[in-house]
Amino acid sequence: MTPKYPDRVAIAHLPTPLEEMTRLSKHLSGPRLLIKRDDQTGLATGGNKTRKLEFLVADALAQGCDYLITTGAPQSNHCRQTAAAAARFGLGCSLVLNGAEQTAVTGNLLLDQLLGAHLYWAGTRTRQEAMLDVAAELRTMGHKPYIIPLGGSNVMGATGYVKAMEELTNQLQAERLNVDFIVFASSSGGTQAGLVLGAAIYDFHGQIIGVSVDHPASDLQTSVAALATATATHLGLGTLSLAARIDVNDDYLGEGYAIVGETEREAIQMVAQLEGILLDPVYTGRAMGGLIDLIRWGAFTRGQTVLFWHTGGAAALPAFADKLVNI
Ligand SMILES: *Cc1c(COP(=O)(O)O)cnc(C)c1O
Repeated sequence: MTPKYPDRVAIAHLPTPLEEMTRLSKHLSGPRLLIKRDDQTGLATGGNKTRKLEFLVADALAQGCDYLITTGAPQSNHCRQTAAAAARFGLGCSLVLNGAEQTAVTGNLLLDQLLGAHLYWAGTRTRQEAMLDVAAELRTMGHKPYIIPLGGSNVMGATGYVKAMEELTNQLQAERLNVDFIVFASSSGGTQAGLVLGAAIYDFHGQIIGVSVDHPASDLQTSVAALATATATHLGLGTLSLAARIDVNDDYLGEGYAIVGETEREAIQMVAQLEGILLDPVYTGRAMGGLIDLIRWGAFTRGQTVLFWHTGGAAALPAFADKLVNI
């Protein structure tokens, strides 16, 4: 199976490092733990959206667009990376953020503004409606906007993670490593769809476990399967059924999206203090909390190797300061 990749722009620092977390592994008496540092993709504090944007921005430029529009939560890492990518190519950027205007300008919301993005608040409209309103307004002003869906999770975005799996399998081969499990935070599904399709293409045989951050497992499984299949078709691979390889764990939804609890707090502090690595409050803190819990429950043997795919997000930490330490 040879995918036909569309054009991409080179904005990520690749390959991202593959490191070992020996102190965390020892502390938990757990399996061998590796970490894939996609928090170090290099675009205005990095994160997983950068790989997706390499393909999305190339598509926008090929279509002659001069504005990127996307959407997310007020502390969206995807919005911040989109704003940075737009700046890099001299494109305008409009961000539609959830809900009513927030007055505390911190974390990603601060960075969005430093990066020159125009902020809109969806208010009572759906995010999609609000994006279409912004696009219509830009068109009347003579602009050509390119709309990127939530999380950049369409076939173009997911393609970034197909290619990431090629990168990982090359690293594993070069370092003679075998990985039994990949664990990471899954939300809009583009990362998981790309990894699962990439695993089929590049013969990665470990189990890929998406720790759901906000959706019930069955919903996320369904949307990831649909996106993985569509991405395979987009890459000229015909119709592949990948549903059986899509593994979602929704045991760690806690009180809901972006609500920091003991699971996230403990994971963030543990990884910071044992490895000097910063996780984020919304995604990777939750996914690592899940991994720590799975290790404690004995889900893995000491001889197995688990790779945690760090998807970024530490730029949001200041916005959650009062939930993370005593202040
Ligand atoms: C967006 C995001 C995710 C989830 O990736 P999806 O492709 O949307 O599933 C995970 N971690 C971080 C830090 C993110 O910003």
